Amino acid sequence: MVIGTITDTLGHQIAGVSQGLTGLFSAPVIRLGVTGLSRAGKTVFITSLVANLLERGRMPGLEAARTGRIEAAYLQPQPDDTVPRFDFENHLAALTGPKPHWPESTRAVSELRVSFRVRPAGFLAGLAGPRVVHLDIVDYPGEWLLDLGLLSQDYADWARDALARAASRPEGADYIARLSEIAPDGPHDEQRITALAQGWAEYLRAAQHAGYADCTPGRFLLPGDLEGSPALTFAPLPQGAAPRGSLARECERRFAAYKAQVVKPFFRAHFARIDRQVVLVDVLEAIHRGPAALADLRQAMAGILSAFRPGRNAFLAGLMGQKRVDKILFAATKADHLHHSQHDRLAAIMGALVDAARRRADFAGARTRAMALAALRATVEESRMVDGVMRDLVRGTLLETGAQVALDPGDLPTDPARLLSPAATGEKAWSDGDYAVMRFAPAPLTLRAGEGPPHIRLDHVAEFLFGDRL
Ligand code: GDP
Repeated sequence: MVIGTITDTLGHQIAGVSQGLTGLFSAPVIRLGVTGLSRAGKTVFITSLVANLLERGRMPGLEAARTGRIEAAYLQPQPDDTVPRFDFENHLAALTGPKPHWPESTRAVSELRVSFRVRPAGFLAGLAGPRVVHLDIVDYPGEWLLDLGLLSQDYADWARDALARAASRPEGADYIARLSEIAPDGPHDEQRITALAQGWAEYLRAAQHAGYADCTPGRFLLPGDLEGSPALTFAPLPQGAAPRGSLARECERRFAAYKAQVVKPFFRAHFARIDRQVVLVDVLEAIHRGPAALADLRQAMAGILSAFRPGRNAFLAGLMGQKRVDKILFAATKADHLHHSQHDRLAAIMGALVDAARRRADFAGARTRAMALAALRATVEESRMVDGVMRDLVRGTLLETGAQVALDPGDLPTDPARLLSPAATGEKAWSDGDYAVMRFAPAPLTLRAGEGPPHIRLDHVAEFLFGDRL
């Protein structure tokens, strides 16, 4: 026994030493987190980014690509055996096949490794040979980041706030009505608790569809492989007695299990290891929906950003230690809905949306930037006289009808405050006009050798996020 224990220990030590040695010589790894709320554009972003890294003809803004220092880029098996692989090939086939269509959106965490063979820059260029750098892209739903806030709440706090919000929204009416039929202090039974959890999930889906972003627990919307498990089968109940064996007591217990067994492991396994992060935001959709949706998006961004301020949260602070995400990009997606003359305005609105949170936040030296991008350009630009005025339009194929249209989406203001102030003061509608958003279908493509799909500013995004490490 004793000998066995000793050899075991020695074995570990030897493994440790050899890991340390390979660690010294192994290729550097950049872990890039890609997040954003549902339909922000994560799947399309990763697919087009990777396609454009493999074929770099449209990436002049990525310095290592422009100067030809990237000798090769290729996909490799990812390092994490238990995380699903990002389905790059099928998503790319959807976007670039003969009948192009948008791929299935992100439902859970997934990962993909792109490796580069790069020649060194600067004075080392003539001395050292090429080296390999791995880029591990980790795709995960922004809704899961919002769950971080739950860690500092107990069941009673969460239930009180969640019910107050539900009661103030038409989408919550059904769930609130259902509560009058149950006794939280009555005996727990599985059918009842399942029905309540389903009712709460339906409310969250309706609220999210209506543009509200503060929808917790995040896994009720995107359960991943936990669908139907007890940790996802609870719901907020009004405050009151919660004797042992009661419905209320069981909800309280499962809320705690959700935090310990779902929320924390996600942060440990995925979030804590990220070096660089891009947060994708469908700003145009929120503007289109009106001031309330924009105000809500701003609040959700503050929630998401709190995950990048580990000092504020005891659990995260303990988990991250000295490690920090050192660059964060906030990107307004789908900029191809606008003529390029408006892209700067969109980027300014993106910046302003996160500005208050950014100034409040101690990002511990992380560099942050706001940009406007389109991962896949589905429109072309055109200028035309409309009612005697020259207008900048975008032309594309409407997703719903297949019709070709030239769209004037409306002028975004140069000063973001013109949108953010009415959003903050609870205005019902924009006073100076509407902003149209249509869903365009991806255009059929004929890609030349060496070129990835057409995009807007993906090369600059790549340069900011990891260009310095290539
Ligand atoms: P996810 O839920 O964050 O993974 O979002 P997706 O990447 O699936 O994108 C959601 C939808 O947004 C897509 O189905 C498209 O309709 C639209 N979309 C995403 N990226 C773009 C883009 O670059 N241009 C345009 N026009 N639409 C986009």
